[in-house]
Amino acid sequence: MEPRGTKRRTEKLEITEPRNKLAYSTSSLPTEPALYSGPFPFYRRPSELGCFSLDAQRQYHGDARALRYYSPPPTNGPGPEFDLRDGYPDRYLPRDEEVREGLDHLLRWLLEHRGQLEGGPGWLAGAIVTWRGHLTKLLTTPYERQEGWQLAASRFQGTLYLSEVETPAARAQRLARPPLLRELMYMGYKFEQYMCADKPGGSPDPSGEVNTNVAFCSVLRGRLGNHPLLFSGEVDCTDPQAPSTQPPTCYVELKTSKEMYSPGQWRSFYRHKLLKWWAQSFLPGVPKVVAGFRNPEGFVCSLKTFPTMEMFEHVRNDRDGWNPSVCMNFCAAFLSFAQSTVVQDDSRLVHLFSWEPGGPVTVSVHRDAPYAFLPMWYVEAMTQDLPSVPKTPSPTE
Ligand code: GDP
Ligand code: MG
Repeated sequence: MEPRGTKRRTEKLEITEPRNKLAYSTSSLPTEPALYSGPFPFYRRPSELGCFSLDAQRQYHGDARALRYYSPPPTNGPGPEFDLRDGYPDRYLPRDEEVREGLDHLLRWLLEHRGQLEGGPGWLAGAIVTWRGHLTKLLTTPYERQEGWQLAASRFQGTLYLSEVETPAARAQRLARPPLLRELMYMGYKFEQYMCADKPGGSPDPSGEVNTNVAFCSVLRGRLGNHPLLFSGEVDCTDPQAPSTQPPTCYVELKTSKEMYSPGQWRSFYRHKLLKWWAQSFLPGVPKVVAGFRNPEGFVCSLKTFPTMEMFEHVRNDRDGWNPSVCMNFCAAFLSFAQSTVVQDDSRLVHLFSWEPGGPVTVSVHRDAPYAFLPMWYVEAMTQDLPSVPKTPSPTE
C-alpha cells in the first residue's frame, strides 16, 4: 500500500555471492497495489482438461478415484455440531512435508496427455505450466504483508514452468510449527471429512482416518492476458446437486474459520481471509466456498456459502479492502516479467524469482542442483518423439 518507487520496473544491480549464481540480474518488478489498479484484464473461463488422484500412499493415478462428493447436513434438521478435534492425533496421517514433489505429479499428467492437448499444435510451447497454489500467491502478493515467496522458473521446449521453492523462513516456521497450529491444520481436513462422502448421494463417515496424502487434482487450461496457462489445483469435492455437473462449475471448496462475534472481526475476515479464498477459487473457476465456523471449543456449529463471484462485494467500498483487478494485473505483469526474463531454453537453468513483503520481485540465476526442478524422466521423455498412436500406455506403467 505504501508506494515506494513508482517506476514500473526499477533497474537494479544485484550483488553476487553464491558460487553457483551465473549472472547479474538487471531488473526487478514492484508490487505496490497502486501500480496495478487498471481495468480487470482478460481472463479466459478455465476449462478442465483432465484430472488425477493421489492415494493414501501419495501414489499417482490418472483418474478421479480420490474425488469426493459434497454432502452437507440437511438444512431442515438440527444444525451441525462437528467436533473438528475428534481423532487428533491418533487418526491423523499427515503427508510427509519433507518430500519435495515440485511439479512432478502435474508433469506426469502432462507427459501422458501431451499428444491430446487441445489448442492446436504448439499450444504447450507458448504456455505457462504451474500449480494453482503458486498462482494464488501471485494474485495476493500486492496485499501480502507477512509471507514472501520464491518461484523457480525454467523454459523447456518453449514452455515456461514455474515451481515454488520453500523459503528459508517458511522452512524454519514449518519445522517449528506450534502444536496448536498443527491441530488447527488437522481441523481443516477433519471438516472436509464431515462434509464429504466417497460416493454421490452417500453420507460422510467421520470415523475413519484423516490422510492428507490423498488428493484429487483438476488440470485446467486458462489464459490471463496473452498468457496461456496450464495449471492444476487440488479440489475438495464436487456437488452432485450443482446446477451444472460440468467441472469446474460443480466443484466446491471447503474452509474453516473462527466464529466471529463483532463487526470488526467480520471486516478483518473480509479484508484478509476472503482475499485468499477468492484468489484460490477464482483461478480454477470454482464457484463457491463453503465455510464452517468453529467455536473456541473446536466445534463447527454454523455453515455459510460464499459464492466466489460475490466475495469482492464485501470489500468493494472498503478503503482498506482488496481489488481483484490489482491481483490479476499484478499476476499478468509478473508472468510478462518472467517470460521476458527467462529467455534461454534450458531445462537445467533456473531463474529464481524472490519476493519479500515491502520490496520488489528480484531475480537470480542458477544451474542444476539445488534449484533445477524439471526431472530427468520428464525431460528425456519429452525429448522423444510423440507416440504416433494416441493413448499408448507410457513405458513407466
Ligand atoms: P493450494 O491451492 O495451495 O492448496 O495448492 P494446489 O491446489 O495448487 O496443490 C498443488 C499440489 O500441492 C497438490 O498435489 C497438493 O496436494 C499439494 N499441496 C497443497 N498444499 C500443500 C502444502 O502445504 N505442502 C505441500 N508439500 N504440498 C501441498
Ligand atoms: Mg479446502
